[in-house]
Amino acid sequence: MKNTVKQCPNCHLRTEKEDDFFCSQCGTILEILPNSCEVCKAELGPDMKFCSKCGAKAPSPVQPSQERINRIMADYLYDKGKAINLTNPDASFRCMKKAAELGRNEAIIELGIYYYNQKNYEEAVECFRKTETFARSKYMLGMCYLLGKSDEKDEKEAVKWFKEAAEQGDTISQLELGECYLFGKGVEKDEKEAVKWFKEAAEQGHGTAIYRLREMGVDVSEYKPKQRKWS
Ligand SMILES: [Zn+2]
Ligand SMILES: [Zn+2]
Repeated sequence: MKNTVKQCPNCHLRTEKEDDFFCSQCGTILEILPNSCEVCKAELGPDMKFCSKCGAKAPSPVQPSQERINRIMADYLYDKGKAINLTNPDASFRCMKKAAELGRNEAIIELGIYYYNQKNYEEAVECFRKTETFARSKYMLGMCYLLGKSDEKDEKEAVKWFKEAAEQGDTISQLELGECYLFGKGVEKDEKEAVKWFKEAAEQGHGTAIYRLREMGVDVSEYKPKQRKWS
């Protein structure tokens, strides 16, 4: 079995690398050259116009599907957006937005966080709803409802999202949920429930959760605080 040969439809540069999607010379999306005859299945060289066995016309290069192009573009733009994040926030935002439009979930979440930081909760909620299967989006939805308008109805909605993410094992949501129960935010005050969720977060080393438990008179000697990082 020979390797897949890809060719740039623009400048005709060739590559056999599996994970090359763009032409390294001109940036065009590469096409896959056919490697077998459609009629007799004989192997074809990349430059053969006709099958040497049966004489049939060689099939034309395979265009990737629009869906595949979108995915490749979205991945590419997402990585690019990450790479220029610190040096050029405007360019980074444009890349993330484009990648989000092309359906890359992580980019949709990044964009939601951007809107959230701008206090544009409506746009933020839209992004997080689109990606609501992710625990991080559930947590962020909770934060949007908690801080966005913050009436009683929204606090209940916030608790609903924190709970879903907490049950998925999201530490920071477990802490938030515990606090909602402790202070009666969007839910009836319930210290037992608060302790339950603080313990879940404390088990994963969440410092604030351990602090809350200690404050509530719970023995915390078994918990070790851990440096947290976003995943
Ligand atoms: Zn090219
Ligand atoms: Zn043939």
